Amino acid sequence: MTAGRDHSPGAPLNIPPTFASTYRDGGPVGYGRWGNPSWTAFEEALGVLEGGHAVAFASGQAAIAALIEPLRVGAMVTVPADAYLGTRGLLRDLENRGRVRLQPVEVTDTSAVLATLASTELLWLESPTNPMLGVIEFRPILAAASKAGVTTVVDNTFATPLLQQPLAWGADAVLHSATKYIGGHSDLLLGAVITADEDRRASLLTHRTLHGAIPGVMETYLALRGLRTLPLRFAQQQRTAQELAERLTGHPAVTSVRYPGLSSDPNHDRARAQMSGFGAIISFEVADAEIADRLTGALELIVGGTSLGGVETTIDRRRRWPGEEAVPAGLLRLSVGLEHPEDLWEDLQHALDTAARP
Ligand code: PLP
Repeated sequence: MTAGRDHSPGAPLNIPPTFASTYRDGGPVGYGRWGNPSWTAFEEALGVLEGGHAVAFASGQAAIAALIEPLRVGAMVTVPADAYLGTRGLLRDLENRGRVRLQPVEVTDTSAVLATLASTELLWLESPTNPMLGVIEFRPILAAASKAGVTTVVDNTFATPLLQQPLAWGADAVLHSATKYIGGHSDLLLGAVITADEDRRASLLTHRTLHGAIPGVMETYLALRGLRTLPLRFAQQQRTAQELAERLTGHPAVTSVRYPGLSSDPNHDRARAQMSGFGAIISFEVADAEIADRLTGALELIVGGTSLGGVETTIDRRRRWPGEEAVPAGLLRLSVGLEHPEDLWEDLQHALDTAARP
C-alpha cells in the first residue's frame, strides 16, 4: 500500500470501509479492537505526510491522553499557558490527582521555554497556539530539548503537515485532531499521533488496544477522503484568511487582529521562517464581550460554533468557556472556510457595524 491505496490490479481505488468486530481465524487482524484496513490506510497516508508512522485514535483528545498516560507518577510537564483547552484541562486534572506536576510557560518566549528544560520530562508544544495564534520558535527549542533528553510533543492541528513537519526538526511525536482540517467537513471526530520511533509507536498501539481508544471505521475512511483534498481546501482557506485579516485590521470596531500572515503580527517573521503558509484561523478582538456576542448574533453566513477547520466558516468567543479566563473577553476566533471571500466579508462587515452601533 502507498498513500493509503491498494495498488494491486483490480483493487478498488479507495480501501472500502470494513465493518467487522470479528474475523475468521488465520488472517492478519483477528479482532476489531486490534486493527482495521481503513485505520491502516489513513495511518499510512498521514504518516508519510508527517515523516513518521501514524497511530489513529478515537479523537484528538484520546491521542493527547495516549501521549500523557505513559508519564511516571510525579513527572514534570511543561505546558503552554496558551494551548488547546482540552490539553490543559486533562493535565490540570492529572495534577489535581497528584499524577503529574505542571509548569505553564509562555511558549512564544523561547528563553522561557529553554529555562524549563532542566526540570521537565515532557515538553508540550502547539503552534500556532489555540486561540492566541502565537508561533513557537521550533528549531532551537526542539534541538535543546533533544540534547537535554526531554520528550517533545507538537500539536500540529492548526498548521497541518502541509505547513510544517515538526518530526524533521526533532520532535518525538506529532499530534493531530483530525476532526479539524484533515477531516475537513465537520462530520467526524478523530485523532492521530505520528512518530518516527518504533518503540513509541508500539507503545501507542498497546495503549490504544488496552484503553479501547480506537477510531471508528467510517471516521478513518472519511478522514482519508478529506486528506486527499486538504491541499486544495487549505490553500483557498489561507488565501481568504489573509484577505479577511487585512480587512479586519482596517475596521474601526476591531481593536486588534492576530494572524501570522499579517506583516504587523508579532510572530510574522518567525512564521515566515519556518512555515510554508500561515493557516486559516484568525483571532480578532472587539472592545468587550457584549459587542462580541452582538457581532456573533448578527452574522448570517458565518456559523457560531466551537470547532474549526471545516468548509464552513465558524466563529467562537473563546472566553465563554471555563478554563479560558486568560483570553481577552472580546476575542473571537474565526475559522475560515470555503465560502466566497466577498460573501464572508459582507457578513463580517455588516455584523461588526451592527454590533458597534450604540
Ligand atoms: N488540539 C487542538 C489544537 C484542538 O483545537 C482540539 C479540539 O478542538 C484538539 C486537539 C482535540 O481534538 P478532538 O476534539 O478531536 O478531541
